[in-house]
Amino acid sequence: MTAPNRNYAQLKDAYLFSNIAARTSAYLKKHPGTYLYRMGIGDVTLPLCDAVIKALHEAVDDQADQARFNGYMPECGMPSLRETIAAYYRKRNVRLDPEEVFVSSGASDELGDILDLFDRLGSSLIMEPAYPAYVDANVMAGRKIIHLPSGKENGFLPMPCEEAAADLIYLCSPNNPTGAVFSRDQLEAWVDFANDHGSIILFDAAYEAFIEDDTLPHSIFEIPGAETCAVEICSLSKTAGFTGTRLGYTVIPKKLVREGVSFNDMWVRNRTTKTNGISYILQKGGAAVFTDEGQRQIKENIQYYKENAKLLMEVFDKAGLWYCRGKNAPYIWLKCPHGMDSWTFFDYLLSEIQVVGTPGEGFGSCGEGYFRFSTFSSREDTKEAAGRLAELLER
Ligand code: PLP
Repeated sequence: MTAPNRNYAQLKDAYLFSNIAARTSAYLKKHPGTYLYRMGIGDVTLPLCDAVIKALHEAVDDQADQARFNGYMPECGMPSLRETIAAYYRKRNVRLDPEEVFVSSGASDELGDILDLFDRLGSSLIMEPAYPAYVDANVMAGRKIIHLPSGKENGFLPMPCEEAAADLIYLCSPNNPTGAVFSRDQLEAWVDFANDHGSIILFDAAYEAFIEDDTLPHSIFEIPGAETCAVEICSLSKTAGFTGTRLGYTVIPKKLVREGVSFNDMWVRNRTTKTNGISYILQKGGAAVFTDEGQRQIKENIQYYKENAKLLMEVFDKAGLWYCRGKNAPYIWLKCPHGMDSWTFFDYLLSEIQVVGTPGEGFGSCGEGYFRFSTFSSREDTKEAAGRLAELLER
């Protein structure tokens, strides 16, 4: 008999989004035809920008032409795209060898697959509230998880402490769900801690492009010493609307070595075994994001979401509610009013004003009493939801 991976039995139900779906469909059953303002979505709504669409079309035409056709692509990414991404980092004075950049099909894939590189018996530190995939990928791999709670008292930015001494340390900045962003000093403390303990930081920079405060680091590699203790996982999903198109990149420095073994070499071996490269068409589309025109256009889209954020933040400011950032991330993490718990607030918004958000408790128990608003909805829906929230919070 083939034994299944028994770690799967330890996974908690993906109850957050199924519970949201169950509650909203029960509401709609009772109130047929009601329009819901969906402010919980973690998916983009604006289409790909013109520069990307044009590059994708050209790449399709290349594949139709005998002379320009491409078969298998290099497993670690097209050399020209690896160089383009290294040049993107150079703008922030981060010097990468293009061979330290691996083109991927997105951050989720990498967050799970990267665990292949580490001893299965090792431990992983996950700061909570957290993006649920961190916990699930580690449960599936059978790793020991150390949960590090955070809260309002530290602005949801926990700092190194003795319990944090794990083999792998997940840092997500700007953070999903809280929108909190680590400062340079705070990241320096984490990098020093990781180097002192021989730990490796898995830095999730999926939302780096939303940072507007110039003093905040976009990459862990802006911090001296990170090249000996960090891997960075990045994605064009939220930056450039690639959630349904799929492209990302992972940076593994050549100086990242433990017990004489290079993780960069291991990842090359892993990718050349487990993938046959990312589609030529998608890599051409992704490359267009990094052109001057592509950067200008994606920034316009990000600005659109930021205007949505402003509409919501104005309401919360007026109501005197505590919330975490929203300025450098596409999420607003609100303390529920009147001491309500996350699910009570969810039901209250749904029944009173037909606004759907995400209960913070679904991101870990220390998210209880908080609520995540996404800024990825349409302007029309965000305006209407903001107006309804303002009216409700004044009652
Ligand atoms: N990391 C974080 C923090 C996310 O919020 C998400 C998606 O919501 C991802 C990674 C996954 O991104 P991708 O679409 O590239 O798989």
